[in-house]
Amino acid sequence: MTVEQFDPNKTSPKAQSDIKQTTTLDTPNQVIAEQASQVGHSQTQGSRIGFVSLGCPKNLVDSERILTQLRTEGYDVVPSYDDADLVIVNTCGFIDSAVQESLDTIGEALNENGKVLVTGCLGAKEDEITEIHPNVLGVTGPHAYEEVLTQVHSHVAKPKHNPFTDLIPDHGVKLTPKHFAYLKISEGCNHRCTFCIIPSMRGDLDSRPIGSVLSEAKRLADAGVKELLVISQDTSAYGVDVKHKTDFWDGMPVKTHMKAMCEQLAKLGIWVRLHYVYPYPHVDDIIPLMAEGKILPYLDIPFQHASKRILKLMKRPGSSDRVLERIKKWREICPELVIRSTFIVGFPGETEEEFEELLDFLREAQLDRVGCFKYSPVEGATANDLPDHVPEEIQEQRLQRFMQVQAEISAAKLQARIGQEYLVLIDEVTDIGAVGRSYMDAPEVDGKVHLSDEFDVKPGELVWVQIIHADEHDVWGVKVDDE
Ligand code: SF4
Repeated sequence: MTVEQFDPNKTSPKAQSDIKQTTTLDTPNQVIAEQASQVGHSQTQGSRIGFVSLGCPKNLVDSERILTQLRTEGYDVVPSYDDADLVIVNTCGFIDSAVQESLDTIGEALNENGKVLVTGCLGAKEDEITEIHPNVLGVTGPHAYEEVLTQVHSHVAKPKHNPFTDLIPDHGVKLTPKHFAYLKISEGCNHRCTFCIIPSMRGDLDSRPIGSVLSEAKRLADAGVKELLVISQDTSAYGVDVKHKTDFWDGMPVKTHMKAMCEQLAKLGIWVRLHYVYPYPHVDDIIPLMAEGKILPYLDIPFQHASKRILKLMKRPGSSDRVLERIKKWREICPELVIRSTFIVGFPGETEEEFEELLDFLREAQLDRVGCFKYSPVEGATANDLPDHVPEEIQEQRLQRFMQVQAEISAAKLQARIGQEYLVLIDEVTDIGAVGRSYMDAPEVDGKVHLSDEFDVKPGELVWVQIIHADEHDVWGVKVDDE
């Protein structure tokens, strides 16, 4: 197995949703062993499951839920194929390379172990899996937690529940480092972007009750999580499917709405970072919360393009009208605001003029963090039927031109940070120093703050850092007193 962390800013950029967070067979075991020791117990000697998690943070959260349930029922999660009574592969099916990786991983698990259950996005295409791997024991689609457990029960005996050894932390099993966690607020999506097959795999928008979201957030904060990353397919649409109905949390009525959620999360006193926000008008209402320091002044908005015609062909949610004007207004209200976005170049029918329009937008918008990928047909996506597909070499040239423009913007923006001081959350301490992130950097996708020769800090610690050097992606700094 290989471990890879995909960094869309540094290597070949792809869609934001394609951020790969391959979690190998031994990672869940390590995390669970560490978490079990935190609650004073080791793993049991129960029935043994191997688990491989592929794909984006949303899939990672699904893996966490399945693992939490397995541990609650007393199953052991083991680090090798040989030790496992059965292996679960949680797949990704977003683009062709992710499908291939999922199929390869299933093949590897079958060769090495023989008893394999498949779940996750690719599971929505059962025929595609069973055609290549007819010996898998069962296939389920995304967020099918109960079905996965039912399948596990029918192949590996449910262990005898032991309330003393089966303890898991209140916050469940988390596959992220213990100082940050993904908080998934909804499943599915009501949009039908023509390049995307997620709605066909994950269904329409299905918002979690706000009380449940806030309870999970509180449990995580109580467990020492310092940063919550709010994720979904469309965070600004949160609650639309339930007409923003009122739920209760902590004895208070709270609406199932993005703003109400942000206001409540702000009370936890930890970093709250919003991902996958679409530029609907009500996004304007959360900028003041950022200006007041209640949630991080960071917005991850996948704009995807700037040309009206291309956005229409993409069937993108949210109007592109006046986006620049709105960004300007947001920055007036909250000057520290950092905006991350992703774009697609070489979409079918994209002309040179429309691509130039995108570059102009980039120069004008001065976005802080940007990922870009060349359009590639995904099986089942309606954009495949559009005429005038852009030849690969032109796509490649446009990608390079795009990245060059953005690299200059990013470099200038980071240079301007030199001399400033920022609160930095330490992620790790290596043999050359510490590495962390400021509010400007989401884990895995953005840059890092390097503290060379700094060993007197711990992962999860927040320290003040003065920036002394920058390239177009990362910054370097020194620890300063927290005045
Ligand atoms: S908003 Fe568009 S790209 Fe995002 S999940 Fe929904 S359909 Fe896919």
